[in-house]
Amino acid sequence: MNNSVLIIGGGIAGIQAAIDSANMGFQVCLVEKSPSIGGRMAQLDKTFPTNDCAMCILAPKMIEAGQHANIKLLTYSEVLSVEGEVGKFKAKIKKKARSVDEEKCTGCGICIEKCPWKADSEFDAGMGKRKAIYVPFPQAIPNVPVIDREHCAYFLKGKCRACERFCEAGAINYDQEDEIIEVEAKAIILATGFDLYDPTPLREYGYGRIQNVITAMEYERLSSASGPTAGELKRPSDGKIVSDIAFIQCVGSRDVRSNRYCSSVCCMYGTKEAILAYEHRPGTKSTIFYIDLRAVGKRFQEYIQRAEDEYNITYIRGRPGNIELNRRNQNPTIWYEDTTTGETKSLEVELAILCQALIPPRDIQKTASILSIELDEYGFVKTPDGLSHPVDTTRAGILACGCVHSPKDIPDSVVQASAAAARAAEILSGGT
Ligand SMILES: Cc1cc2nc3c(=O)[nH]c(=O)nc-3n(C[C@H](O)[C@H](O)[C@H](O)COP(=O)(O)OP(=O)(O)OC[C@H]3O[C@@H](n4cnc5c(N)ncnc54)[C@H](O)[C@@H]3O)c2cc1C
Repeated sequence: MNNSVLIIGGGIAGIQAAIDSANMGFQVCLVEKSPSIGGRMAQLDKTFPTNDCAMCILAPKMIEAGQHANIKLLTYSEVLSVEGEVGKFKAKIKKKARSVDEEKCTGCGICIEKCPWKADSEFDAGMGKRKAIYVPFPQAIPNVPVIDREHCAYFLKGKCRACERFCEAGAINYDQEDEIIEVEAKAIILATGFDLYDPTPLREYGYGRIQNVITAMEYERLSSASGPTAGELKRPSDGKIVSDIAFIQCVGSRDVRSNRYCSSVCCMYGTKEAILAYEHRPGTKSTIFYIDLRAVGKRFQEYIQRAEDEYNITYIRGRPGNIELNRRNQNPTIWYEDTTTGETKSLEVELAILCQALIPPRDIQKTASILSIELDEYGFVKTPDGLSHPVDTTRAGILACGCVHSPKDIPDSVVQASAAAARAAEILSGGT
């Protein structure tokens, strides 16, 4: 590929950077490690502060990236090495075997229907199941299934082949092997996003021990019409539809035991999730426990106000110290100090949601070493000149955007992605 940019990570930031670069006439190679582009935004039900349907905004961009003549998509792929320098990078990319021929597959889905084997769905944050041959979600790009070899009976025991038997296109290929692809690029944009903090070590909150204590991403999937409960807010212990919920902010953020930084989006997504609970079931009562509310974006403060005025949402200033299980009804009871009055109180609810921190991708050290870039003290990408070159990394020609740079919301990720594409364009046009 001539005059090209390599983009690593196909979430909203990587997709936006790819579309911008491609529309400027540059060749783009977009590398995504999972079977589909889309990233975390695809998992969200609605987005603050407008409560627009996340997929309705994301899907057209995914389609544009998937069909653009200037964009080469490499999904289920990862970058193995990068050599060279700005203006002449050479990357080696491993395209993992899907065990399905992308050229032959018609996307009919019969293989998925007939597959008898199941595993936890990563897309549904473990709240639902998927088959051993699967597409992560209905709007996936490309709409080509992948066989998860760790859960496929044929790969484990040498028996089954149901998907092959029913595939009229003859697309199943158990012998397919990983491919190594070499790409030349003048600039690289890193957009590998974030992972989610696992609250299990915070024993006081009972995550993993109390069934009706779940994470915010698990809640997103419960609340989504395409999720495992078809959008009904059924709690895990007994399937009861909930109408009394608590949200706990700063779980794994602003905490000396885990991450000192603010994850920047939790006050807003917690409020959004509480508003959605009310929209699902008018009258639902939500309580949000916070340290201080961070509503710094455009119309964010008004959003919080509306939550209080119109959606039966109460904000309590205090970080809960403990969650106990009421064994009679499986309700979590939250113990907290109301820091506005200094009183210690408890609140029993039907479901407690932990607004978990956004953390750097778990493989960021490996990625940083492949790209020879530095990370900051928290593990996000280091920007040596955050004031005048906020999307540059410590290596010339390698730019970063979205949450891999720092936790941020979708609009800010998109703005930064466009900035990274513009900066890459300078290099691709002969600048330095
Ligand atoms: C519970 C929750 C609710 C939220 N709600 C909202 C909301 O309502 N409104 C809002 O504005 N924001 C919201 N956000 C924030 C929003 O999710 C982020 O702003 C957005 O997803 C950032 O996009 P991104 O592309 O930077 O990262 P991601 O969405 O994480 O995408 C990164 C992509 O890179 C891929 N990748 C990772 N590592 C590699 C690798 N080594 N090689 C190749 N590919 C890789 C990943 O598979 C992924 O597809 C929410 C966040 C959470 C946790």
